Amino acid sequence: MAEILAKVYDPSELEEKWYRYWEEQGLFRARADGARPPYCIVIPPPNITGSLHMGHALNNTLQDILIRYKRMEGFDALWMPGTDHAGIATQNVVERQLAAEGQDRHALGRDAFIERVWQWKAESGGHIITQLKRLGCSCDWSRERFTLDEGLSRAVREVFVRLYEEGLIYQGDYIINWCPRCQTALADLEVEHDPHDGHLYYIRYPLAEGQGAVTVATTRPETLLGDTAVAVNPEDKRYTKYHGATLRLPALGRLIPVITDSYVSPEFGTGALKITPAHDFNDFEVARRHNLPAVKVINETGHMTKEAGKYMGMERFVCREQILKDLKRDGLLAKVEPYTIHVGHCYRCKTVVEPLVSRQWFVAVKTLAEEALRAVEDGRTRLIPANWDKSYFDWMTNIRDWCISRQIWWGHRIPAWTCKSCGEIIVTREDPGACPQCGGASLNQETDVLDTWFSSALWPFSTLGWPDQTPELKLFYPTSVLVTAFDILFFWVARMMMMGLHFMGEVPFREVYIHALVRDPEGQKMSKSKGNVIDPLELMDRYGTDAFRFSLAAFAAMGRDVRLSEERIAGYRNFMNKIWNACRFTLMNLEGFDPRAASPDRPLTVVEAWCLSRLQRVIKETRARLAAYEFDQAAHTLYQFIWHEFCDWYLEFIKPQLYDKEDTASRRHCQEILLSVLSAILRLLHPFVPFITEEIWQKLPGQTGSIMAASYPQPDEKLLNPGAEAEMALVMEAITAIRNLRGEMNVPPGAQVEVHLRSEDAAPLEALDRHRHSVMLLARVQELHSNAGTIPTASAKAVVSGVEIFMPLTGIIDFAEEARRLDRELEKLGKDLSAAQRKMANEDFLAKAPAEVVQKEQQKLQAWTEKLTKLKTHRERIRELMG
Ligand SMILES: [Zn+2]
Ligand SMILES: [Zn+2]
Repeated sequence: MAEILAKVYDPSELEEKWYRYWEEQGLFRARADGARPPYCIVIPPPNITGSLHMGHALNNTLQDILIRYKRMEGFDALWMPGTDHAGIATQNVVERQLAAEGQDRHALGRDAFIERVWQWKAESGGHIITQLKRLGCSCDWSRERFTLDEGLSRAVREVFVRLYEEGLIYQGDYIINWCPRCQTALADLEVEHDPHDGHLYYIRYPLAEGQGAVTVATTRPETLLGDTAVAVNPEDKRYTKYHGATLRLPALGRLIPVITDSYVSPEFGTGALKITPAHDFNDFEVARRHNLPAVKVINETGHMTKEAGKYMGMERFVCREQILKDLKRDGLLAKVEPYTIHVGHCYRCKTVVEPLVSRQWFVAVKTLAEEALRAVEDGRTRLIPANWDKSYFDWMTNIRDWCISRQIWWGHRIPAWTCKSCGEIIVTREDPGACPQCGGASLNQETDVLDTWFSSALWPFSTLGWPDQTPELKLFYPTSVLVTAFDILFFWVARMMMMGLHFMGEVPFREVYIHALVRDPEGQKMSKSKGNVIDPLELMDRYGTDAFRFSLAAFAAMGRDVRLSEERIAGYRNFMNKIWNACRFTLMNLEGFDPRAASPDRPLTVVEAWCLSRLQRVIKETRARLAAYEFDQAAHTLYQFIWHEFCDWYLEFIKPQLYDKEDTASRRHCQEILLSVLSAILRLLHPFVPFITEEIWQKLPGQTGSIMAASYPQPDEKLLNPGAEAEMALVMEAITAIRNLRGEMNVPPGAQVEVHLRSEDAAPLEALDRHRHSVMLLARVQELHSNAGTIPTASAKAVVSGVEIFMPLTGIIDFAEEARRLDRELEKLGKDLSAAQRKMANEDFLAKAPAEVVQKEQQKLQAWTEKLTKLKTHRERIRELMG
């Protein structure tokens, strides 16, 4: 016997209950026993400092949809969860705590500081995991990993040592982003580039011999002290005569050559570019091509080095002012222009980043990148959508060696030691006791730690147990799909490709589904500074997790940014209510129904045949859309079918049968079909909206166990019935047409009407006649005549599929009153419209109002114009009907 659902849908109560149930039942656990085909997704590990934002919510909802779907499909589905230690971000959080206590990490010491970070992690680091659970994520939490846990640290060490032994890790001078305040190298990602008001300084570099000078433009005059050349474009005719000339560096008098390089843009500044290899990334590359020396004039604390001559010891921005003074005095400052500059800032302390050359650890990525490029080229890994291929190829082709050392404490300490006696560098799997070269016992361990991305690059195999050959690794690697936002395609995905191919000999994932970013309703990127950040937790509180998840899926159109609209989330919340109410109605009408009892044999009714046929198509469509990662289309298909076919029509059509307590055989059969349709709908929906579907599923008659363990519906071709679909389409069209006539003509909702059908073709009339009870019930028709009787003159008319529908109006509406009402409405609309037109003709308004306001006004104007046309037509019809 069916249990009845609560009257009102209350998501908060359901969600907690079912999540606990799933965990207790072990339903998230992968078996890894090889009994079923494997399906595996590794989660993009959120930072332990993180808290769930919209990007996480979208990313993880999509993964959960896939994993729940595949689990229901009978796969041994593993969603591998975990978190990232997030080197700099985490160290920063704890440093701020220390600062608040009047302490700093240097006073505390390395070991005590790291201890303190672990303590912080134990207390606050699991926050985001709790939030992922709130979102309904069905990760296998029994396998949760952390990039700094013992196993993953062993994987990191093994990879480092092997790459070093293969000569793919080396130490070298390289230009890096450096934060003079944090005293650390920063990854490109850790540098924020915001536009600032600055200046463009035009500086004369005199020719060493003869008269004249070459003028260069720069935003950073203090770096001229480190210039080792001036470059011009070889095609730039203005500078042909200077090719090979020698210039005298202002302030220092050092001699530097004029070189040609096609990298130089003739359009920027004067077309002559100063080359400062030690303090500019592009210049560093130019210098490598031309074998120019790098002269480091700014040091790690942001002060000038001895190479800066008389400016030695000055802070870099103080030096800038001094140089400008000196240049002006010497008549070498040609002019100064205001200029918008994109200065790099440290993402955590906002200090201006200094690019500088320093001794760092690198991975030589060239060969690794070639293989990673080939793997996408030959389809071993497929990027979806495929238009990311080009960016991927470009990036892999132009890739620079990867600087992996970071001057912080929280992270994997680089396993390298230097012998104090002989200078030997020792890189080993076990901490060395003595120098293998000279036997000296005095060894210095490298103080740098590895870039956080180094450990996350190993994520797909390290989490499965590598370097041990575990059953999990054998079964689940390569993983099935990676779901990620495009902003970490290169920093993470590309590196996982390189490491996976190198250490496993196989790609880390067969497919990479790249989704867009979540933006605000205006299409703006969400950011704290803009104040347009929407908290997913708040939305879950307000609308329920299921409605929120369904919205995210419905927003996730391939290749397009997600514009979060709260209106639409509210709309999907209504959808949840609709599902709830329809299921509640169904369950009430399944009372006393025992699915195990033998069913009376009878053929399907046309209504049942239609609904089952449509259901098969919906199953097929949903599966195809999910297979193609078209989450929005899958959601849309389900939404349309459930709301606008199952709820709006099917339930209405079968009500008479359900209510008929006399004909028990027919009622029982109807219940049986209804239950099977409802069961399929719930299973189809489950990956999207897990909580509500579980709640209802558990109350279906005869149901035991979780919907998570049920099978995803398969389409049954035998149930496709185009004839029934066509017939019911006609019935629904006719009912809709009559309803529309009632609406247009302002027929009081309770009034019963008379309808005459006319057609040359007998077939549609016969079809409508077979469903006359439905037509009469659902369109409130008292008398339905087919090609019979005369049609009264004052009748409204519609046509569907060659059938003319007439609805006599005499005695139903008061024509004179209706005409007066329409005249009043026309008059008011006319006034509103001309006011709106005046507004749109007002140039002042157009010039001053924001674009969205003007656009809204334009839309309003258009809507009103359309409405006016409609009203006028309608007024005309009333006039005709009045005779
Ligand atoms: Zn900093
Ligand atoms: Zn030694």
